Amino acid sequence: MSTTPRVVIIGAGIVGANLADELTARGWDRVTVVDQGPLPLTGGSTSHAPGLVFQTNASKTMTALASYTVEKLKGIDVDGAWCFNQVGGLEVATTPERLADLHRKQGWATSWGVEAQVVDAEECVRLHPLVDRDRILGGLHIPSDGLAKASRAVVALARRAEARGARFQGSTRVTGIEQAGGRVTGVRTPDGVIPADLVVSCAGFWGVELGAMVGMDVPLLPLAHQFVWTGQVPDLVGRNDELSEASLPILRHQDQDLYYRERVDCLGIGSYAHRPMPVDLRELPQGDGVRESSMPSMLPFTEEDFAPAWEQSQLLLPSLRATKIDNGFNGVFSFTPDGGPLIGESRDVAGFWIAEAVWVTHSAGVGRAVAQLLVDGRSEIDLHGCDVHRFEDVQLAPEYVSETSQQNFVEIYDVIHPLQPRLSPRNLRVSPFQARQQELGAVFLEAAGWERPHWYEANAPLVEELPTEWVPPERDAWSAQFHSPIAAAEAWRTRTAVAMYDMTPLKRLEVSGPGALGLLQRLTTGEMDKSVGAVTYALALDEAGGIRSDLTVARLGEQLFQVGANGPLDHDYLQRQAPADGSVQIRDITGGTCCIGLWGPRARDLVQRLSADDFSNDGLKYFRAKRARIGGVPVTAMRLSYVGELGWELYTSADNGQRLWDVLWAAGQDLGVIAAGRAAFNSLRLEKGYRAWGHDMTTEHNPYEAGLGFAVRTQKKADFVGRQALAGIGDDTVSRRLSCLTIDDGRSVVLGHEPVLVDGHPAGYVTSAAFGHTVGRPIAYAWLPASATVGTEVEIEYFGTRIPATVATEPLVDPEMTRLRG
Ligand SMILES: Cc1cc2nc3c(=O)[nH]c(=O)nc-3n(C[C@H](O)[C@H](O)[C@H](O)COP(=O)(O)OP(=O)(O)OC[C@H]3O[C@@H](n4cnc5c(N)ncnc54)[C@H](O)[C@@H]3O)c2cc1C
Repeated sequence: MSTTPRVVIIGAGIVGANLADELTARGWDRVTVVDQGPLPLTGGSTSHAPGLVFQTNASKTMTALASYTVEKLKGIDVDGAWCFNQVGGLEVATTPERLADLHRKQGWATSWGVEAQVVDAEECVRLHPLVDRDRILGGLHIPSDGLAKASRAVVALARRAEARGARFQGSTRVTGIEQAGGRVTGVRTPDGVIPADLVVSCAGFWGVELGAMVGMDVPLLPLAHQFVWTGQVPDLVGRNDELSEASLPILRHQDQDLYYRERVDCLGIGSYAHRPMPVDLRELPQGDGVRESSMPSMLPFTEEDFAPAWEQSQLLLPSLRATKIDNGFNGVFSFTPDGGPLIGESRDVAGFWIAEAVWVTHSAGVGRAVAQLLVDGRSEIDLHGCDVHRFEDVQLAPEYVSETSQQNFVEIYDVIHPLQPRLSPRNLRVSPFQARQQELGAVFLEAAGWERPHWYEANAPLVEELPTEWVPPERDAWSAQFHSPIAAAEAWRTRTAVAMYDMTPLKRLEVSGPGALGLLQRLTTGEMDKSVGAVTYALALDEAGGIRSDLTVARLGEQLFQVGANGPLDHDYLQRQAPADGSVQIRDITGGTCCIGLWGPRARDLVQRLSADDFSNDGLKYFRAKRARIGGVPVTAMRLSYVGELGWELYTSADNGQRLWDVLWAAGQDLGVIAAGRAAFNSLRLEKGYRAWGHDMTTEHNPYEAGLGFAVRTQKKADFVGRQALAGIGDDTVSRRLSCLTIDDGRSVVLGHEPVLVDGHPAGYVTSAAFGHTVGRPIAYAWLPASATVGTEVEIEYFGTRIPATVATEPLVDPEMTRLRG
């Protein structure tokens, strides 16, 4: 008799079927998959998915999820009929901007291990003879992309899972989630309760409804997206038999928001070129699913919305002039505020998980990742960009979800710069300094709903004053976007005078209570049992030693800690790990407080003028914190600096923020104080070698690989998560390293995610990059084999060109820490 947990999966689409397959492959045989629709064509999005799988994405995680899907679906069939037809993928460019972007995308593919080539127009036509040569400038060809037959794959996966003990049950609607003592105990259906130890909702665009059953916000919006089948295309006749269906690569014409696939002698055309069409679940047809016309995910075709797409399709593919649209529909699937999937467990009802807003493209990868989370407690692929708890509260509001998800629909194929902020909604979260920042001409970009100054136009005159060695070189068109040379002046003033940085958006958690010390000891690599006033930089690891976050923990009282964290996922993690006896309270204090990073060689002169408290080296040592008053404003001062200069993070409550800004500003004028933004900040942090979690390292890396071994207190008495996994690993045993590169030409600033070549072969990728204003050269951090030691010459592939760079000794600035400790 099996003792593995009883799992109920809600939804027998491509995600639910993959999950059942992955769980049973791991020996969990008590798996029941229920679906409201009939099997196997349930009427969900999978039932009619055209199944184009373009793997490459700016995100390493999404690309890895897609590549696994390709590998897995290639290996399954239904009675010999394919589930994946590897016809390749072709994305064509009709504008120079798109062609450049395809080069960027080829870089991502190379970085993430997918073979891809940018090809000229002739080669595009050779690959896809229907394309009009004169309309295109070139294309990106990815031979391993192709077509997934999702509905058939569901059958293959269900058969395999059933053979291992799983049960699939159609026409059974889940109407509620049974729970007791904060845990799921089963799912309710019209036929009774199906008992369960774990429930995973793979309900696709119905996810919001299922989440509501346990009071969980599921930030997705069902949107309709048009898809048509043409009649016979004379130029395709005789190319494919019924079984193979397709031989031409799947095709994307992103400049017109269109994509294409073959089906024997017809073409399927998908369009994102129409207005966003949000769908109200209550208005969906409730059919039996078998007849396509009654599938809830297939809404009636609105021909007028498709007219421009048809016109553009005939221009790109002139053969279409000889045919007509045979049939079309407005198909429904999920969009989310940032385009990523939603994976994770309810905070309130243990054992209730979701895996939603997942494309066919990523479905097997997500199925495996969720199975690993359930069975092993961790996924081998980093999932922070997929975690349902990654959003801030304000981003869970239905209005926010609706507006941003619709915007993602509109921009789905747009060429987007990594720093490009959304235009709306804006001003969701502002710091108390915002009025002053606006007076100084702050140029705001947005992150996690926060308005964040990147530079201040008021500092423009300082550019004229820059000493020659600080004058930044001209940038190329891409790296000049969302950037200003003013950042150089702000960096210069930080290194030579003093600057005020708004650090308010950084997540701050208050951890308090008799169990606080014990919790932080267990969850972090640092020694937390230090005197009140100690500040400790530490890592939170997972059981396998992967870095799930880096934290700055200040002990402000015997039982009171302030934790500088990376985002909502840290809050979620600490809350889940806190003991159930109520001995620890965890509060997100970010919104109620604010922070100025006051940094630069004149920082001490400035605060000492305004405070009777002792800010001398002895009065407040490096990595110490204390309460003080500055200009009458009560603050918690922490002697830390992300930019590598003398100074403090000065925290106060939000109501006192503007006053704090004003007193520092007024008192610092003769010392040359300026306000400085994120652009300068990023440059200065890279010069000091400070890593940014989520960019530079994730759960896929251990501390030694990431150059953070110093943060692991192996001699710490208290046990901590991940300790065992690190046994035997050290700085000298790792096979890859996060390495500091400087760019040899002194001027080319890359963006991040570019491949790095060693001896002409792809060997790693860039994580963070900036111009190092102090060192007068661009900097890039990159994952590289450990054999690429200091002095190794490498190349970074940037929009198709190779930029020579050299592995450097880090940090590039102040390795003796004299500036920080001064
Ligand atoms: C027109 C169109 C074109 C697309 N093209 C592509 C493409 O080319 N490539 C690609 O990767 N993706 C594509 N997609 C997206 C893709 O189809 C979906 O993202 C994917 O199929 C979602 O799979 P799923 O298993 O999560 O959801 P679904 O297939 O929708 O399955 C969810 C299941 O949950 C069941 N369910 C819901 N509520 C309940 C309940 N209360 N009780 C019991 N069962 C319930 C539903 O009946 C349904 O069967 C396209 C989508 C559309 C609409």
